[in-house]
Amino acid sequence: MALFCDVALAVPLDMVFTYAIPPGMEPAVGGRVLVPFRQQRLSGIVVELHDRPPQIKIKKVIEALDVAPVLDEQLLKLGKWIADYYLAPVGEVFRTMLPLSVEFKRSITYHITDEGRMALHLAGMSGSPARSKRTPEQQLIEFRVLDYLAERESVRERNLRTATQVSNALLSGMVRKKWIAREDVSAARDAARLAKVAVLRSMDMKVASISESNARVPSTSKFNNNQRTLLETLAAAGGRVPVEALRGLDVPRTTLGTLVRRGVIELVDEPQDFTASKLKPRQSPFEFEFSAAQENALAKIGDAVTSRKFAGLLLHGITGSGKTAVYLACMRQVLEQGRSSILLVPEIGLTPAVAADLHQVFGDEVAILHSGLSDGERAEQWHRIRRGEARVVAGTRSAVFAPVSDLALIIVDEEQDSSYKQEETPRYHARDVAVMRAKMAGAVVALGSATPSLESYYNAKKNKYALVELPDRVEKRPLPEVEIVDMRQEFQETGQEQVISRKLAEEIRERLEKREQVMVLLNRRGYSPVVLCRACGKTLQCKNCAVSMTHHKRERKMECHYCGHIERIPEKCAHCGSEYVYFVGTGSEKLEELLHGMFPQARIGRLDRDTVRGREDFEHALNALNEGALDMLVGTQMIAKGHDIHGVTLVGVVGADMALGLPDFRAAERTFQLLTQVAGRAGRGQYPGKVILQTYFQDHYAVQFAARHDFAGFYDKELQFRAWMHYPPYSAIANVLIRSEKLDEALTWSGELGRWFEKTRHEGIRVLGPAAAPIMRLKRDYRYHFILKSPSREKMNALLRAMLAEASARKIPRTQVIVDVDAVWLM
Ligand code: ADP
Ligand code: ZN
Ligand code: ZN
Repeated sequence: MALFCDVALAVPLDMVFTYAIPPGMEPAVGGRVLVPFRQQRLSGIVVELHDRPPQIKIKKVIEALDVAPVLDEQLLKLGKWIADYYLAPVGEVFRTMLPLSVEFKRSITYHITDEGRMALHLAGMSGSPARSKRTPEQQLIEFRVLDYLAERESVRERNLRTATQVSNALLSGMVRKKWIAREDVSAARDAARLAKVAVLRSMDMKVASISESNARVPSTSKFNNNQRTLLETLAAAGGRVPVEALRGLDVPRTTLGTLVRRGVIELVDEPQDFTASKLKPRQSPFEFEFSAAQENALAKIGDAVTSRKFAGLLLHGITGSGKTAVYLACMRQVLEQGRSSILLVPEIGLTPAVAADLHQVFGDEVAILHSGLSDGERAEQWHRIRRGEARVVAGTRSAVFAPVSDLALIIVDEEQDSSYKQEETPRYHARDVAVMRAKMAGAVVALGSATPSLESYYNAKKNKYALVELPDRVEKRPLPEVEIVDMRQEFQETGQEQVISRKLAEEIRERLEKREQVMVLLNRRGYSPVVLCRACGKTLQCKNCAVSMTHHKRERKMECHYCGHIERIPEKCAHCGSEYVYFVGTGSEKLEELLHGMFPQARIGRLDRDTVRGREDFEHALNALNEGALDMLVGTQMIAKGHDIHGVTLVGVVGADMALGLPDFRAAERTFQLLTQVAGRAGRGQYPGKVILQTYFQDHYAVQFAARHDFAGFYDKELQFRAWMHYPPYSAIANVLIRSEKLDEALTWSGELGRWFEKTRHEGIRVLGPAAAPIMRLKRDYRYHFILKSPSREKMNALLRAMLAEASARKIPRTQVIVDVDAVWLM
């Protein structure tokens, strides 16, 4: 038996902590233990068991929480790799990997036992608890705890401590004496968020086709009319419908009960969103014949999986080429082999439509992890996956850590999407972690995109990944024609600043007359982005950030889009008192209003973070468009990604090139991707699409190549630029941000580190800075930064590590020095 264990705790310190293991306790490597840390108890992951006595006096493990590891060997190794690669404290990495904090965070409760009551009773008679080796003060506290618990059913640990001032050691002692019992209440889940869903059980059993609907339902002769209505509805919706939705049918309530008793229908609990609820019945994802390119992609990925060796593939398929069907088919193959797969999708990509497809193909075998889950639901899904009940996992960023066994395939959809990068510690990139996880597991990783990142495309060109292309849209639909409107010229010709060009207005009118649908993109929410004083020229800035506040008209407020700070709408200039305050510029809210004014008959919806509060709203707007209840959808980049709505024949881009003015080397790449994505929404049905692209940067190559759907052209040009400027993929980069609420602290620290960088030898690494960050103040912090670039990642990380040690020696708090390896945002 080991005497000591090293524990990774989720604290911002780059180290693990050694604790003594009390006799009889058997913690597992990869399992959780509860340990005292400063004034708290924390749960941490055991990373090593050993017998090396530490130099200093150490504390004891309070409790081993798991008998078996919660992080298997591979995930432990992956976590250590992340800590190393992204210079993140390993305990914080593990916390991110395990969605189980809910199980310990203040969810421990205590209650008194019969023995405890007896002890209390005896103490009451003799004046102190019986048979105790404690000091009188300790006995008094024990007495207080028992007394407190005796009057209550169960008490949370935190409350108990506040009420009685009991220490860790005393509490544990009392548990050991069996006077009180500790309980982990994580199991209690918020049932409110679960919905009952009716699932058709016999889809594959005795099935008979109903010619009309093309749906498959159990041979219906044995059922009465009501039962048949219910079954047919269920079948048409893909076999699962929330019970709530079935209530709308003109069928007695008892019918469902009867069918459940007969075993035809099963009722299951499911997280509320993501049931296929209000979705129209969809075509099965496999009802069509795969194109040759799809077959080829499926075969390439399938072969790689069968070889059981690591392989990376880049699936470059233009918008509308049918990538999703390929993903699903690959995952189905994997499942048929009894192995596991993970599908990663961007934050916004996990639409109800995708979820419905997944449910339809995989039924209960799929676990869907999305940001709408509560902590309890997330933990529950984690356990389901871990128990092997769900071998298909789909989810956003952190799903890359899903504890599946026998991992065969990870698919990263829209691999260029910036939501894969976590913008807090650990600042990992889920795509890159997916590649590493696949490597460690001997699995296959497939990165899919219509607009791959330069990094991935470069890796494919260098044969690190196999390139698989889907060069055509399904059913030979053409890509939309893109027409550029130069807004400077529009200004000269009309004599005023236009939001909607004459050309775009004309095209919209035409579509509306033909009853076709339109999407209009303006990648900026709110009504007006700037409030300007005409007297003194000052703008209204956020008091926490160096950015201007955005006017939101309907909600009658000014809002900072960076920190969320809200203010009243100013009537006078805050600087000079003048009344000449003007609202300048246009956001999506104003665009919607303008379009209403121009097309009063049109039914217009808006999709941005102000109108979409939850998934419901998102689903609602897209369904409305899909069903033809809307003629036009206005919105930010939310409208650009992934949606497959066949009635849209015109996409207007009112503003998507703002990023080109920002000091960020990825600006061109991002703009190209956004333009390509949004253009890809047009013409996905039977009629060809058209795109009107308004821009102030009409000569910019990102705009020009996007208009020509010329990915390779853009890629070559952009690569040249990256090579000249020593940017990724030619150099690894890291952003080191120094922040403090006090300006002089931020200045002093960055100055000190600047001088340290100067006198440190670091061959082959460029260090730029210190410089004020482009957004110099954010969420109250003043910010300075360094940018490091190097062709050698090892050297760069070694220097960063030395820098962190230096910062620590200079007593700069670890939380104020942010190291962002492979930074995606340099703002
Ligand atoms: P992508 O993700 O590549 O933009 P999707 O996977 O969303 O494209 O597919 C676009 C549409 O084409 C979807 O409605 C899908 O059901 C349909 N589809 C996919 N493959 C085929 C095919 N081989 N034949 C006909 N339709 C297809
Ligand atoms: Zn003023
Ligand atoms: Zn702010």
